[in-house]
Amino acid sequence: MTETKKFDVVVIGAGPGGYVAAIKAAQNRKKVALIEKGLLGGTCLNVGCIPTKTLIANAEVMHKIQHAADFGITTGPISFDFGKMKQRKDSVLEKMRKSLGGLIQSNGIEVIKGVAEFTGPKELKVKGDASCLVQADAIIIATGSEPLEIGAFPCDHKVVFNSTSILELTELPKTLAIIGGGYIGCEFASLYAALGVKVTILEALPSIVSLQGKTVSDALTAAFKKQGIDIRTGVVVEGIDKTAAGASVRLKGLPAFECDKVLVAVGRKIVSAGLGLEKAGVQVGEKGAIVVNDRMETNVPGIYAIGDVTGKFLLAHVASHQGVVAAANATGQEGTMHYDAVPAVIFTMPEVATVGKTLEEALAAGMAAKTGRFPFMALGKAVASMESDGFAEVVIDQKTGAILGAQVIGHDAASLIAEMALAIANELTVDCVAETIHAHPTLPEAWLEASLLAVDTPIHFPPKIKR
Ligand SMILES: Cc1cc2nc3c(=O)[nH]c(=O)nc-3n(C[C@H](O)[C@H](O)[C@H](O)COP(=O)(O)OP(=O)(O)OC[C@H]3O[C@@H](n4cnc5c(N)ncnc54)[C@H](O)[C@@H]3O)c2cc1C
Repeated sequence: MTETKKFDVVVIGAGPGGYVAAIKAAQNRKKVALIEKGLLGGTCLNVGCIPTKTLIANAEVMHKIQHAADFGITTGPISFDFGKMKQRKDSVLEKMRKSLGGLIQSNGIEVIKGVAEFTGPKELKVKGDASCLVQADAIIIATGSEPLEIGAFPCDHKVVFNSTSILELTELPKTLAIIGGGYIGCEFASLYAALGVKVTILEALPSIVSLQGKTVSDALTAAFKKQGIDIRTGVVVEGIDKTAAGASVRLKGLPAFECDKVLVAVGRKIVSAGLGLEKAGVQVGEKGAIVVNDRMETNVPGIYAIGDVTGKFLLAHVASHQGVVAAANATGQEGTMHYDAVPAVIFTMPEVATVGKTLEEALAAGMAAKTGRFPFMALGKAVASMESDGFAEVVIDQKTGAILGAQVIGHDAASLIAEMALAIANELTVDCVAETIHAHPTLPEAWLEASLLAVDTPIHFPPKIKR
C-alpha cells in the first residue's frame, strides 16, 4: 500500500525559490516537506549561476596574470588546464550542495526524492525510490525552467550544446558559435573568449542583451569587439549541419558559418507540463507560466507558485524573494512582491549590472527623467587598479529627485548595483545618495558622483553648465 504523508506546507523543487520557501515556512513553525527529482540547489547551484561563475573566476585570474606586466610583475609563459578548471567547478558544486543539504536538515525539513504530480488541490503523488502520496494545507510550486530546445537545431551534446551540457566540457574548442546574444549567451562568450577560444555570437535581434537597454548593449558590444568577439546581429539561424570538422550553421540569406562547436542559448522553457496542474485546477498562462498575483497565490486557494515557473524575471534572487513572500502567505503571515528594484547582473568581462528603469523606459512611461553618468576613468580607485573602463549611470525623476534606475558597466558592477537597489527599494532621492559619505578611494564613489552629475553639480567632473 502506498504510504500517505501529511504536512502543513509542501514545496515542489529545491532550487533557490523552493529551498528558501521551505526554510522560511519551517521558521514559521510549520511541518514542511521539500520534493526534488534531481539535485538540491536546482538550476542555479548545479547548472546555472554557481558553475558559470566558478568558471568565470578562472578566466578572471587568467586575465589578471596576462596583464601582470602592466603592474610591474614579471611572469613566465602562461598555460592552463581546462580539465582542472572543470574539476574545480565540480568540487565547488559538491561542497555547496552538501552545505545546502545540512541547512535544510537543520531546519527540520523532510526532503522527499522523486517526481511530484498533483492528484488534487491538496495532494501530490511522488514517484521516486520509495513512492508515496503527500498531503498538505499549502503547496508551493517551484519547478523552475530548463534550456529551450529548438526543433531546427537539436543538441547532441557532442558538437551542439545547451547551457547545461557545455558545462561538462573538459577541453576547449578552437572556435565556438553561440546562438543567442542574451545574458546567458554573453556570459559564455566572455568566458570562452577570455580562455582563447574564437567566439562568434549569432543574434537575430539588432543588438545583444537588448532587454538591458541601449546604453548597456552598446557598451558591452564595444567591449566584446575590443576583445575579439565576433558579434553578428540581425542573423537568423535556420539549422545546424554536422561536418567532419565540427558544425556548419545555416544562416538565412548568408553563407553558412563553420565552427568546431555550437552553443544554443536561445532561452528557457518553463517546467509546468507533467505536473498534473489540471487535476488541481491551477491556471497556466503564456509559455506554460503559472499565473500568480503579487502574493504568489495561484487561482487555487492554498497553492502558490514562485521562481522561473512564474515566468517573471528568471533570476535566482527573484525566485528566493518570491519564496519568502509565498511562505509568509502560506503560513498565516503577510507578504507582497514588488518588482521595482530587481537587480540584474551579467557576469561578463566587464560586468554589467542594472536595476529599475532605463532612461528609455522612464521616458516612455511619461516621466521627466534624466541621467547622470560618471566614467570609471575619473575614479581614483578604478585608475589605481587599472580597471578604468566603464561607467555608473543613475536615472532620476527631475521633478522629485527620485532614483528610478541605475546601470553600471565595469569592474565589480555586480557588487556596486546593491547600493542602487537599496536606494530604489526604499524610494530614496538623488540627494540621499549625494549626501551619504562614501569611503575614499572606492568604486561606490561613482554613485555619489553620478548623482551629483544628475543634478549638474559634479565635483570630480567638469560641469556641463558654465558658471
Ligand atoms: C547558465 C545559467 C546561468 C545563470 N546565472 C544566473 C545568475 O548569475 N544569477 C541569477 O540570478 N540567475 C542566474 N540564472 C538563472 C537561475 O538559475 C534561475 O533563475 C533559478 O535557478 C530559478 O530558480 P527556481 O527555484 O525557480 O528553479 P530551478 O533552480 O530551476 O529549480 C527547480 C527545481 O525543481 C525540480 N523539479 C522540477 N519539476 C519537478 C517535479 N515534478 N518534482 C520534483 N522536482 C521537480 C528541478 O529538478 C529543479 O531542481 C542562470 C541560469 C542559467 C541557465
